[in-house]
Amino acid sequence: LEWQLRKSDTLNVVGELAAGIAHEIRNPMTALKGFIQLLQGSIKDDYSMYFDVIMSELKRIESIITEFLVLAKPQAVQYKQNDVCKIMKDTIDLISAQAMMHNVQIIADFEEKLPLLYCEPNQLKQVFINILKNAIEVMPKGGDIHVRIRKIGTDYVRISVTDQGCGIPQDKIKKLGEPFYTTKERGTGLGLMVSYKIIEEHQGKIDVESEVGVGTTFHITLPIERVDTDDEETGVYHI
Ligand code: ADP
Ligand code: MG
Repeated sequence: LEWQLRKSDTLNVVGELAAGIAHEIRNPMTALKGFIQLLQGSIKDDYSMYFDVIMSELKRIESIITEFLVLAKPQAVQYKQNDVCKIMKDTIDLISAQAMMHNVQIIADFEEKLPLLYCEPNQLKQVFINILKNAIEVMPKGGDIHVRIRKIGTDYVRISVTDQGCGIPQDKIKKLGEPFYTTKERGTGLGLMVSYKIIEEHQGKIDVESEVGVGTTFHITLPIERVDTDDEETGVYHI
């Protein structure tokens, strides 16, 4: 428990700082891209391959910034009662083309008549996308992803995403959600950091179960009602 609190403090500071920086970087980036595209037409063919590299690296910076900006849009955040199954269904639709391309089948198993959750649908969608994308990426030869949604006791709903990928060694599980922790050659190591942060803002938690060579399950547990906290402003929650 103590460890969880320390980790969430770090996430708060890093998240806010990074989101602020991301905002500042985005405008000059847009200008850079525009002018480089303009130049492209007036330069010798010998150099055109350099342009491809420049554009692809700029796009990479852009994707890193986009992941951070999810954290930095307070004006777009709108908490209200939502159907979490509908949000997950929409997300699965969104990602189904990518899944199909990788020979991955997404199997949904949702409990019926679940209560509405007090949540921010776009942010939850972002979390579901990040976790489903990771699940697809760890199954290069294809496989099944099971998405289960269940009520837990009277106060919580749990969304579980199970893949048949490489799994995560026990000692690496605690690194998940750390900014820039990635084992992928072209990974950002930001998807889970953003997801942990969003779920924490929803007063929920993410637990990971994994067996190397068998697969991984991400459990997202969310409260049905928002619990009033002692100190909302500083994010210090008394448990
Ligand atoms: P990225 O996908 O860019 O690497 P993430 O924050 O989404 O960044 O994930 C961080 C790391 O966590 C991944 O690089 C991978 O090592 C590990 N990981 C996440 N999801 C899974 C999964 N379903 N199976 C195995 N490893 C995973
Ligand atoms: Mg990822």
